[in-house]
Amino acid sequence: MILTGSSGVGSQELGVGETPAPTSVATPTPNAQLPAPGVSFDPPSTDLFSTDPIQRASSLTDIAQLIAVCEKCGLCSGRTKTVPGEGLATARLVVVGEGPGKTEDATGRPFVGRAGELLTKILAAIDLPRAQVFICNIVKCRPPENRQPQFDEIAACLPFLYRQIELVNPKVILAMGSTAAQSLLNTRQSLGSLRDHIHRFRGIPLVVTYHPAALLRNPNWKRPTWDDVRIAARLLEA
Ligand code: URA
Repeated sequence: MILTGSSGVGSQELGVGETPAPTSVATPTPNAQLPAPGVSFDPPSTDLFSTDPIQRASSLTDIAQLIAVCEKCGLCSGRTKTVPGEGLATARLVVVGEGPGKTEDATGRPFVGRAGELLTKILAAIDLPRAQVFICNIVKCRPPENRQPQFDEIAACLPFLYRQIELVNPKVILAMGSTAAQSLLNTRQSLGSLRDHIHRFRGIPLVVTYHPAALLRNPNWKRPTWDDVRIAARLLEA
């Protein structure tokens, strides 16, 4: 990570159900109010005169309505409910995951299964109740058997996410897992190498970390995740 002070001094493993004690947080490079440059990606932004309904959507509710009837890729045929995302329309933090799982598909809400419970605890650890964040995914319909979304599915769905981010206009984006990070940054670089930088998405600082489902499988990743999340928290304060 191009930051000093995040090397684990004061960091601790985040156990399920534990809220870390308030210790010193990662300190950006001296004098750096803004994050050091990482990979930056500027996807096309709104065209004022566009006739594209996604571009013309003026609220998160409008976007959710467009997602509800979307048939742009094959995932629509297997879905129970679309999962557009939820949270505060003016959130300072947008969290982006991969795609809905079984519980999300059944409820229409993002991150409500086991991984979601862990995400809620991670957010609470930086004093962010879920309701104050906007939580969403790269794809808005569940891939069969929870497989990774395919390139065409991601490409079909990304315009919804771009517009959601544009409308929320957060201070920081937290990309959880390689699908979220690689799709938002338009790169094939590994999660490990992407974690080493603070990126920018249309000028918005973007922090990459592990997906909560990966943390459930490999608890050794909780500590680096905690380091990443504290960096996001620090950027929110800046
Ligand atoms: N995993 C995700 O990436 N998103 C969800 O909503 C749930 C699990």
